[in-house]
Amino acid sequence: MGVDLGIRQLIATSAYYGWGDSLLDTIKNDFEGSKRFICEQIPKGSIWLYNWSIENDANVIVLENLNFSTMKADKNMVFVLKNLWDYIRKDSHKYGIRVELVSPQYTSQICSNCGRKGIRDTDEFRCPYNNCHITENADVNGAKNVGARYIFEKAFSDIRQGKKLWDSYYLAVFRKTLSIRILDAQLERSKLEPLLNKYNLT
Ligand SMILES: [Zn+2]
Repeated sequence: MGVDLGIRQLIATSAYYGWGDSLLDTIKNDFEGSKRFICEQIPKGSIWLYNWSIENDANVIVLENLNFSTMKADKNMVFVLKNLWDYIRKDSHKYGIRVELVSPQYTSQICSNCGRKGIRDTDEFRCPYNNCHITENADVNGAKNVGARYIFEKAFSDIRQGKKLWDSYYLAVFRKTLSIRILDAQLERSKLEPLLNKYNLT
């Protein structure tokens, strides 16, 4: 389950539904006055996420590896996000769920359907390419990219170790996320291509 923690919806997931938009006004308007209330909500949000993952047969929650000290957002919002991020990681094992981290690079800018750069307009993400053209909630699009990035990294590490990719579902997601990875510029195409050819992934 890919997860995007953000300032419009505190938790958005790759399985669409999210949690925490009702807290935003409280955080904005009376953070200090309601700090205790907000802190009480953080475990509730985490538990909501564990249950939503279980309901969707996901035993891995994928979060972005965020650097809160350099985050450009309201300091109260950063406080809430940091606590939520810590809490989700701390208690997941009680629910049989593992939390994995991936790089946050480009996750909000690229299309979760085709991997190319799209247009983000407040709450909405649009892909401008004719053969794709999706419109998606921007946070859900980000959460899908987060989940897809983890699957790519897992699949790529399996290929390197000579293991077979799990099944057609993962293979499909793997293909789709190739462009995400290439955008990251963390992999040189020349190293990737022999592997892709070997496994007929091009
Ligand atoms: Zn697209």
